[in-house]
Amino acid sequence: MEKSPQTELLGPADVARAAQLLRAGQLVAMPTETVYGLAGDARNPDSVAAIFAAKGRPAHNPLIVHVDSLGRATQFANLPDAARKLAHAFWPGALTLVAPLREGHGLADAVTAGLPTVALRVPAHPLARALLAEFGGPVAAPSANPSGRISPTTAAHVMAGLAGRIAAVLDGGPCPVGVESTILGFEGEEAVLLREGGISAEQIAGILGPPPSARSDTKIAAPGQMLSHYAPAARVRLNVTEPKDDEIWIGFGPDCAGAALSLSPTGDLEEAASALFAMLHHADATGQPIAIAPVPEHGIGAAINDRLRRAAAPRD
Ligand code: AMP
Ligand code: MG
Repeated sequence: MEKSPQTELLGPADVARAAQLLRAGQLVAMPTETVYGLAGDARNPDSVAAIFAAKGRPAHNPLIVHVDSLGRATQFANLPDAARKLAHAFWPGALTLVAPLREGHGLADAVTAGLPTVALRVPAHPLARALLAEFGGPVAAPSANPSGRISPTTAAHVMAGLAGRIAAVLDGGPCPVGVESTILGFEGEEAVLLREGGISAEQIAGILGPPPSARSDTKIAAPGQMLSHYAPAARVRLNVTEPKDDEIWIGFGPDCAGAALSLSPTGDLEEAASALFAMLHHADATGQPIAIAPVPEHGIGAAINDRLRRAAAPRD
């Protein structure tokens, strides 16, 4: 693929232009309700290779394929009944389903990193939906950031990380959910939680009954769930109720009135998820070490804590 020395900044009126770029094999960062995705034609091996190259993403880490409907998803994968139930309940939305590839799927091999399964999602963001409808095909779209760094929840975050390396950014404002999708795989009809995210375990249990297990004994390969990820340049300390003098403290809830920044002054987990990555970007820009208050583990708090643990994990 050609280099993109100038990254175009597009708006809601430019969806046709964004789709044209995708058809030409170029990469377009698109807003989704979770985070900005780096979209490329999932059937075009050159586009998919360009996604890995732009992000510096290891080739063993498969991409999520975004489609406009459950019907389209079934062109690419054989979805178990449990997956269909979940799709009916949560699509469009922040849930990714991993299922066996269907014969004749037509996706580039690199999308699935050679696995016999594919990860599929129908995003809810109106601009992502408009782009998928206009493009008319599947797009591979990992988060639009250099691999391992903080995920982007604004067009400015995307530009800061990838300007000059991708054709365009479609600006849809800040992402409302703010953390990536929940990923579920299936062993037969049994759902296996592969990554916490925007749809909570409690919500999934509401549809499937017994809670999906976060199983360490699962046979499903979920490569790419690196321990160090979402990493600011600065050191990150978790569960901090008393920050040190040199630290920038990110609070949560009314007990952290003295904090310079707060994920949610009232202790609202949805608000905290939505603010999380922007606040990490902001705190990182100060150059100070980062200290973060405890966040409860229920609902979307589980996904917030997963991202925080990875932000704080030792780096290679
Ligand atoms: P993201 O980095 O947000 O694009 O999410 C992609 C993640 O989805 C990968 O790191 C994998 O852990 C998971 N994933 C994607 N495709 C598959 C697959 N076929 N089987 C298992 N996990 C997958
Ligand atoms: Mg990512």
